[in-house]
Amino acid sequence: MSVIDLVPYDEALASYDPVMGLEVHVELGTATKMFCGCSTELGAEPNSQVCPTCLGLPGSLPVVNAIGVESAIKIGLALNCEIAEWCRFARKNYFYPDMPKNFQTSQYDEPIAFNGYLDVTLEDGEVFRVQIERAHMEEDTGKSSHIGGATGRIHGASHSLLDYNRAGIPLIEIVTKPIEGAGSRAPEVAKAYVAELREVIKALGVSEARMDKGQMRCDVNLSLRPHGREQFGTRSETKNVNSLRSVERAARFEIRRHAAVLNDGGSIVQETRHFHEEDGSTTAGRIKDNAEDYRYFPEPDLVPVAPSREWVDELRAALPEMPRVRRDRLQAEWGISDQEMQSALNAGAIEPILDTIAAGAPADQARKWWMGEIARRANESGSELGAQPITPAQVARVCALVAEGALNDKLARQVIEGVLDGEGDPDQVVAKRGLAVVSDDSALRTAVDEAIAANPGIADKIRDGKLAAAGALVGAVMKATRGQADAARVKELILERLS
Ligand code: ADP
Ligand code: MG
Ligand code: ZN
Repeated sequence: MSVIDLVPYDEALASYDPVMGLEVHVELGTATKMFCGCSTELGAEPNSQVCPTCLGLPGSLPVVNAIGVESAIKIGLALNCEIAEWCRFARKNYFYPDMPKNFQTSQYDEPIAFNGYLDVTLEDGEVFRVQIERAHMEEDTGKSSHIGGATGRIHGASHSLLDYNRAGIPLIEIVTKPIEGAGSRAPEVAKAYVAELREVIKALGVSEARMDKGQMRCDVNLSLRPHGREQFGTRSETKNVNSLRSVERAARFEIRRHAAVLNDGGSIVQETRHFHEEDGSTTAGRIKDNAEDYRYFPEPDLVPVAPSREWVDELRAALPEMPRVRRDRLQAEWGISDQEMQSALNAGAIEPILDTIAAGAPADQARKWWMGEIARRANESGSELGAQPITPAQVARVCALVAEGALNDKLARQVIEGVLDGEGDPDQVVAKRGLAVVSDDSALRTAVDEAIAANPGIADKIRDGKLAAAGALVGAVMKATRGQADAARVKELILERLS
């Protein structure tokens, strides 16, 4: 394969405007498949969750999964879409070994939801509105495993195995309108959109939307057009990108590749492409079928879907608080800046903080520990914040000990460290490490007198009314008590002595 010289990103953007289209597939978390009663449970023995319907055997008849339809409507409503009063399924005809029916049951020109939008917040706080073309219902395919080759791809394999357990699991495909006007932030918009969509899906409870488990995957369509030109360029479609970071990288790579081809006087081929995690590149897949090649026609074996307006209104009224609204609410409740909220989000700290507050801690304390000591440990070990060996209840207990005056900040940090190091719960760490604030005034007074005697110059300044100088003496006492004193009390005692 010939390697092209990619155009530097900024240079590409200086000549062209990117246009994107994102197609996201979400696997619903229903108990049974979309058109039969087979289980959707993951991890079962291959081909143990199949029946004549999802195997496409002659004479079998599909029945629509009502929860699948309900989930599709919820997604449509959450994405500000109109909900069709009447729509049908359609057969998308093509042959592929992992699709035993020889067609995919999907929706074509009559999607259940259409004409919506999703607002996404970019890193600099700006809100970008992504227009939604449609959200439609369809079914997943089975899974092929190619055996015997080095890469796991069909090329070089000696044989292939097929597992139809996944065939027929409900999917919702959400397609954006062309995303224009994002300029150099197009890759960031793509990532932010998929991230926000994932949050919405999770909030609705219709899927866990785990990209690492293939429950949510994104096709990134991208084209470039010279500045000032209205007409879109030819797009490429990078398939099955399965992490947020990859969505951003795939868009970035395609911008640079398209620019290279166009600058060279070449033309972009409308094709699907594969994304490669290792180096963030894409390579050509198949030349893209036009829609008519699929010979779509209305599915004759399924009744149309005609959700009553009452049902739709009921579902609308029962929608949960949307992630964006919830984030704004929490940010206001916690009294933090946009940037602080953004870092808490990026760190995956929102749920741990909420759980810690629920366990009795004040919001600022809960946030401080999760975003401080615990986040630092998570970064160091490259693991998720929620996976650290400390529970919200334990963090709340540390906060309670601080509030009681039994620990100061410095000691509390050591307690958190101890819990993270597996030394037990906070009270056990306090006992084992002998961490407790020296609250005995007589012991503190002795330390204060010693500090005054050792720093006569500073003591004189304080006597002269320069109270700011007390900090140095507090520091000396804290050092002498190995940090186990209550700094506020120490300051009181110093001022008492010198006034
Ligand atoms: P297909 O099923 O062939 O992939 P769709 O119309 O379902 O086609 O999806 C294509 C996606 O790409 C949509 O999100 C659409 O908005 C977007 N799109 C269409 N034309 C272009 C283009 N020239 N450049 C970038 N995106 C495009
Ligand atoms: Mg597509
Ligand atoms: Zn089945």
